[in-house]
Amino acid sequence: MHNKRIALVTGANQGIGLQIAKDLVAHGFTVLIGSRNLERGEAAAKEVGPDACALQLDVTDQASIAAAAARIRSELGRLDVLVNNAAISHTGRLPGMSGEEFAKSTLPSNVSLDELRAVFETNVFGVVAVTQAMLPLLREAPEARIVNVSSGAGSLTRNSDSAFPLRSIFGPVYPASKTALNAMTLAMAIELESAGIKVNAVSPGFTKTNLNNYAGTQTVEEGARAPVRLALLGADGPTGTFSGMDGAIPW
Ligand code: NAP
Repeated sequence: MHNKRIALVTGANQGIGLQIAKDLVAHGFTVLIGSRNLERGEAAAKEVGPDACALQLDVTDQASIAAAAARIRSELGRLDVLVNNAAISHTGRLPGMSGEEFAKSTLPSNVSLDELRAVFETNVFGVVAVTQAMLPLLREAPEARIVNVSSGAGSLTRNSDSAFPLRSIFGPVYPASKTALNAMTLAMAIELESAGIKVNAVSPGFTKTNLNNYAGTQTVEEGARAPVRLALLGADGPTGTFSGMDGAIPW
């Protein structure tokens, strides 16, 4: 029986996920570094230290997800925390294209359905697929937690306010994928409440990472803070919430 708490962070080979992994190790966890590229996962695990271990996991590949769950079952027997962090903002913005220019090429009227499907495959269906595969392992833990890393960009309440400054970049691809992820989060929280599994959505805030060509204003240490808080929730903590560094975010 493994006596440390065990966490799996998807997409933990870089960015906010890597920092979440470092912080959870500092809180006494054994952390599985989910990475679609095993070598990059191994390099990240080495950087985190002996309590981290790489796990090949592509959230869009059912065989990879099943193999990851089988390995956790046979080597560790349970999972205490699942952080669904892996995401993409697009499948390949042209070099030199600004976020605003990209947003104009992905309006509801002109967005490529292939682009839309690919982003939803990772950011929404990937989260559901990984969660379904890991649920039997989470049910073995006494106080399991699921953290879905979302974005304030997905808030329908904020974006329906004509005074919201980022409203012009609300679009059907990345922002709407996070809106859909929020809906999945609430549905999961409702189903799993009676099992004592808390499921929350969290926005890390605008953080300097590969996702935004390092244009973010926060460090990864700052970006990891809110997701880690939700991973560590005690028995009296909330479920079915959407929050960020500064507290609740409207859905
Ligand atoms: P990042 O540095 O680009 O990291 C994203 C991670 O997801 C990478 O490890 C990437 O793997 C992985 N990934 C992508 N597709 C995957 C797949 N199919 N299977 C497994 N892993 C996959 O971005 P980040 O900023 O740290 O993003 C982390 C989370 O924060 C995301 O959910 C993002 O939406 C959210 N977020 C970020 C910001 C921000 O300002 N940065 C703001 C709001 C929300 P590879 O290295 O192989 O590409």
